[in-house]
Amino acid sequence: MLTEKQIETFKQRLLKEKAKTEGYMDRREETYDEGELSHYDNHPADSGEELFLRERDQALNELDEEFLSDVDKALLAIQNGTYGKCEVCGKDIELDRLEVIPEATLCIEHARAQEEEHERELDRPVEEDVLNPDETARRKELDGTDEPGQKTDAFSQVEDYGSSDTIADSEGNHDPTREQ
Ligand SMILES: [Zn+2]
Repeated sequence: MLTEKQIETFKQRLLKEKAKTEGYMDRREETYDEGELSHYDNHPADSGEELFLRERDQALNELDEEFLSDVDKALLAIQNGTYGKCEVCGKDIELDRLEVIPEATLCIEHARAQEEEHERELDRPVEEDVLNPDETARRKELDGTDEPGQKTDAFSQVEDYGSSDTIADSEGNHDPTREQ
């Protein structure tokens, strides 16, 4: 059982997270509503990049919305005096778990069960894009980049080695003992 003091601490954390997340979402909306993307005009960014940013922000918004609904559920549970108990089995949620995820309303066992169900419902989890934005960006970049560009890069790398006396010498430059 959680003490009143513990619950109050979690409540403050939840309220803070909620305000922060709502702030992120507002800012993302402003970016598009007020045409703040126009500063991208200064860069040679193509519409593909803008589309990518838009898609990324949409995915982030979806995750934030999910997070906010979890937070609201947890805040409601605090009001109802059921906070810290699993919605499914009614057991106390592990304190370690609440410390990391104060919005948790499920014990670890039932959270995992729900996650697995959720993953089965989706062909491809949206999280893949969000958790690996670099990887997604790289893949999109590669799609639009033709082979010769990569060959040029590889060649210039070889050239760099060639311009050093020997590879051993260039490695020696990074030898920390030389700097002493
Ligand atoms: Zn449970």
